[in-house]
Amino acid sequence: MLALRLFGKGDVRLVEVEKPAAGPGEIVLKVGAAAICGTDIRMWQSGKSGVDENHPLTLGHEFAGTVVEVGPGVPSKYEIGMRLGMQPNIGCGICDMCVSGRQHLCPDYRAFGINMDGAMAEFVKIPADAILRGNLIPLGDGVSFEEAAVAEPLSCAYNGFTKCFVKPGDWALVVGAGPIGAMHAQLLNMAGARVIVNDLSEERLDMLKALFPYIETVPGNPAEYVMRKTGGRGLDVAIVACPVPAVQAAMLPLMNYGGRVNFFGGVPEDRQPVPINTNLVHYKELYLTGSTRSSIAQMRKVVEFAEQGLLDVKGVITHRYPLSDALLALGNARNAVGIKHVFAFD
Ligand SMILES: [Zn+2]
Ligand SMILES: [Zn+2]
Repeated sequence: MLALRLFGKGDVRLVEVEKPAAGPGEIVLKVGAAAICGTDIRMWQSGKSGVDENHPLTLGHEFAGTVVEVGPGVPSKYEIGMRLGMQPNIGCGICDMCVSGRQHLCPDYRAFGINMDGAMAEFVKIPADAILRGNLIPLGDGVSFEEAAVAEPLSCAYNGFTKCFVKPGDWALVVGAGPIGAMHAQLLNMAGARVIVNDLSEERLDMLKALFPYIETVPGNPAEYVMRKTGGRGLDVAIVACPVPAVQAAMLPLMNYGGRVNFFGGVPEDRQPVPINTNLVHYKELYLTGSTRSSIAQMRKVVEFAEQGLLDVKGVITHRYPLSDALLALGNARNAVGIKHVFAFD
């Protein structure tokens, strides 16, 4: 079968590999869709420790597909022909985080396309522990493979969203007009917030506005715009999906009393600590929150959003490709052409 594999820094190749077979407790999925994530681009551009010419890794952690093979001992719930989505973070199952339902915070978690072979391939093998821990998500007829694939990053946005206690009428700012910023904007709008998206690139903001006309956009430093819009009160919610220390620090003076800030994107370790004015947290009673990845429950929840038409989950997908166009697709994603890029399989 064809697989898109990382061989090291700057080196991804579309290669023939052996099709996986289902051993005891395992399932093989025929991939229906696999989406490209910023993480894939970073791994391509910067490499990944442990991945080299002799230890290549198949990329792809945002995916869905059809069961084509079921190994002995797999729970009878799963049958050939079933359509499944996948929460790609597999916890150890026994640590405190795992037993509290937060397997995405498990210190020993594994993830498809990160430290085990992923789904930018015609077939992907699902290991027994992932199946028994509920990582597979049965898809209703109303959910397409591409929706189930982008439900993974959407569930990460949803994780951050849940920390911000969003109420109808809140003023919310999202910094970063990429795919993640677009998903945050959709969730905030769904909850009844008034949504402003900020980015350095006006072109990206225009693209987002064309897809989601309900959002307001402001390029560059948003401070003056935010204060004017909110009558000098400031923001109730700010989501920083951008890895820049100065941007994180600049959010606090823009917050209203009781405002909630979510640091969604990590900052490179060599740029920590980020100086923030803690008096603003104190005197304005702000809540500073963070989020990373998402739980299985959160991903099942956003798949429901697609199933029930509560949110236009596929609305962020601007480009679709066959796997044979992998390098074109990766290049477009890197160059910020469009929003979300997805491999679609027959
Ligand atoms: Zn991702
Ligand atoms: Zn664990």
